[in-house]
Amino acid sequence: MTRLNRDQLVQLAKSQITEWTPQQLDGRRKAKEAITVVDIRERDEWMQGHIPQSVFIPRGFLELQIEQHQPDRDAPVVIYCAGGVRSALAARNLQEMGYTNVISLIGGFNGWKNASLGFKVPKVLNEEQRIRYSRHTMLQEIGDEGQIKLIESKVLLIGAGGLGSPAALYLAAAGVGQIGIVDYDTVDVSNLQRQILHGQSDVGRYKVDSAADTLAEINPGVKVIGYKEPITSANAFEIMRGYDLVLNGSDNFPTRYLVNDACQMLGIPLVDASIFMFEGQVTVYQPKHLEAGIEGGPCYRCLYPDPPPPGEVPSCAEAGVLGVLPGIVGSIQAIEAIKLLVGFGEPLIGRLLLIDTTDMTFRTLKVNRNAECPVCGDHPTVTELIDYNQFCGLPSSTHAVERAVEKVNVNGHHAAEKVLV
Ligand code: ZN
Repeated sequence: MTRLNRDQLVQLAKSQITEWTPQQLDGRRKAKEAITVVDIRERDEWMQGHIPQSVFIPRGFLELQIEQHQPDRDAPVVIYCAGGVRSALAARNLQEMGYTNVISLIGGFNGWKNASLGFKVPKVLNEEQRIRYSRHTMLQEIGDEGQIKLIESKVLLIGAGGLGSPAALYLAAAGVGQIGIVDYDTVDVSNLQRQILHGQSDVGRYKVDSAADTLAEINPGVKVIGYKEPITSANAFEIMRGYDLVLNGSDNFPTRYLVNDACQMLGIPLVDASIFMFEGQVTVYQPKHLEAGIEGGPCYRCLYPDPPPPGEVPSCAEAGVLGVLPGIVGSIQAIEAIKLLVGFGEPLIGRLLLIDTTDMTFRTLKVNRNAECPVCGDHPTVTELIDYNQFCGLPSSTHAVERAVEKVNVNGHHAAEKVLV
């Protein structure tokens, strides 16, 4: 048997395989040729940068894993390493496995970089993040990739009150990178029964300032942006644009309509909720985005096309609420937000969750999109934001909501009955 030294072995391998220059690979990809590109370097080399749309299979696993990525043995497979030597030898091994169209990249990743072709540096969790979010990353549905999505996401909370408090706490703890909070109110002693973002020493402070301090204590990596102004038709787009998701914790109808309409117009998913005494409701309004393959679901106006006329609403009355109730409902909103941001599970799109804490029942009602909806329907009539006059009305009771859902589902094309919400 002939003994070959290292250089002779490489020479022999190179004589038996095809080699491409980085420019050749780039040209073929630009011509839309389907080519599997495999990086066979070590993990730390891959993490420092790699050719875009390449798959990572360390050299030791190449023969074991290549079939998962390219089962067709006649399809072109380009292998690269750092300098083009390891890949030449590896290409020869793949040929022996029956791969007929294996190419080694001349000069490897260094050659690619030297040719000034673009490369990708993958985002990774740093050491602190790795520890902080370990209970998330252990979950297959989240993993490092999902956690990085959370870190890179931006969520806007409408209100830092009963619902906004638990939602903000958990979203910050979960590592959502930017949390915007719209609230111009200050902390009052009567808020402390349920608004757990704030404490005794915060009384009199702006809620957004108090919220920012509390959230920084839970997770200093989160950027909190406070908007100490009422959200109106004049500033809604400006505030909301750029956020990946809006979580509504407002307790008044003008804001509910405004936020719904703005989310529909901007294409931002809205996690909506309301509470009433011992009862709560949560749903997700996902605008349709056909180019992105998002079918979407109903919106708030599918259920309640217009606010009730001012004469038909009862006088302003403060309604009582069990303090822990928004803790449950706001936490469910936070879960729905995380599911949407990471992309797992079944969000409450087209479903309305009804919670009654007196007998502790959780029910979901299916809600259809209303083809006649003034915002998301087939012929929208509301095409710009509207500031409704501040009006009062009791928050939605479960019973009232059930009637509205039944109406929109049964009648399909007819608008929901104008019920008090
Ligand atoms: Zn709608």
